[in-house]
Order: sequence, then structure tokens, then C-alpha cells
Amino acid sequence: MALFDHHVHTDRSDGRVSLEDRSVSVLVRPHGVSDHFPWRDKMRNDDDVLRYLDDAARLDLRVGLEYDLGVAPPLRQSTRESLHYMIGAVHQIRLGGDWVRFDEAGRFIKGLLGNAPFSEASRFDDEALRRRILDRTLQVVRDGINDVGIDILGHPTFSPLAALGDPEDVFPVEWQERLIELCVTSRVAIEVNEAYRVPHQAFLVRARERGALFSVGTDTHGEVGPLDRTEAMIKDAGLSEERFLRGERVRAKAQAGGSAESSS
Ligand SMILES: [Zn+2]
Ligand SMILES: [Zn+2]
Repeated sequence: MALFDHHVHTDRSDGRVSLEDRSVSVLVRPHGVSDHFPWRDKMRNDDDVLRYLDDAARLDLRVGLEYDLGVAPPLRQSTRESLHYMIGAVHQIRLGGDWVRFDEAGRFIKGLLGNAPFSEASRFDDEALRRRILDRTLQVVRDGINDVGIDILGHPTFSPLAALGDPEDVFPVEWQERLIELCVTSRVAIEVNEAYRVPHQAFLVRARERGALFSVGTDTHGEVGPLDRTEAMIKDAGLSEERFLRGERVRAKAQAGGSAESSS
């Protein structure tokens, strides 16, 4: 059985491929569409999201969003529930009046800067700053789980910190455990992200041992390519296929059923 790819962009946000073309690429392997919310003049409000949902569902696509945690304006509950699933992801962190943006780290991690070093690295020598970013990350993820009802945590651990070196040095184990715990207790899936190659192996092993659910997300903005890195990450961390989401949410069902509480 092919793994379902939940994290695929289209030209409804910053992807290069139309919904129509995505309805063809599902024949290559199963995937949904999950564009950024918000996105400039394209995904501004409930009306834009509902139009997206209608247009994509008419093409038999499964439809999610990549909700920008800590930034996105609220959506109506009825809008959120009408989607097939919701990914929440962090792309910047606000600390007081300052923003820590992830764009440059993203380009570095994706290898788009060639051999150039991560230009912002020295800013993150400051351990107190790193701690504030980590704490604030837990907070926006918690809000996303409780208030937005996300089903999937997109590219967990991706941040400028992930560009600094060995993730086991950069991310304290206790912080990793807390992030995993947030997801496990709410049955929010941890995304294995092909584009950023996160989270790292030790994180995935910890999540597996805690009984986490997982989700495949290539985060492609263009072609639907092979899942090479994803499959290697899954294999190296020993994740089993039955723990992966299949294009639909499990949270609401579990909560409505009342009997599928997490064991932890
Ligand atoms: Zn993202
Ligand atoms: Zn994305």
C-alpha cells in the first residue's frame, strides 16, 4: 500500500502546479493538496478556503491546509471541519516585538545556497534566544492543537536551530519529549517531511516509542517525485505503516468515540 502524501502545494498558494494537474498526479501516487493559510491575496479568509475546498473536492482531491501557527487568523469551526485534514506548521516565531523568520534557514537546509554557510548562525549562538524560540514553539503548537484542531504537525523541528548542526545537540531531549508528548496525547500526527528532511532519526525513534502517529509530507511545490528520503527516514527509525495517516483525520473520530484515548 502506498503511503498517502498529505503535504502538497498548488498555485493556490506558492506552488507551481494547478489543482487540475494535481488531480492527474494522484495517479502517480496518492496525495492530497494542502496550501498555505494565509497566503497573500490568494488565501485570506474563510471564503477563499471554502472556494479552494470546493474546487479541489470537485476534482476528487483530498483537501487540507498548511495553517501558519502563531500567525494565521482564525477560521470558523465549520470551515475547519469541512476540510479533510489540517496541517499546522511553524514558519516564524514572534518574541516580544521581534520576529525570528525561518526563510533563510529553509533555503540553507534545502541546499539552495550551494556550499555557503548558514548566514544567520551567529545570531543563534545565544543560548537564551534558542531557549525562547523553543519555548514559544511549544506554545504555538499547543495552541494549534487546542484552538485550531490541527491533525498533523508539519515539518516538526524545522527552524533556524535545525540549520546549526547536529539536532541532538541543538534540541534538548527534554524539549523533544515535550513536543512529542503534545502530539501523542492529542493524536496529532508527526510529519516525516521530505523537503527539509525533518525530524531527525532520534526524534522519530522517541516518537515511535511513545506511540505517536505519523504522516508523510513531501512539501512539494512542483512535481510529485519519489519518496526517497521519506522512505529512508521511515526505515531508519523503524516506523510501521499502520501508524501513518491515510488522507483523513483521526482526531475527531477518536474524540467522538471517546474510547480511543491515548494510553499515556
Ligand atoms: Zn511549511
Ligand atoms: Zn508546505
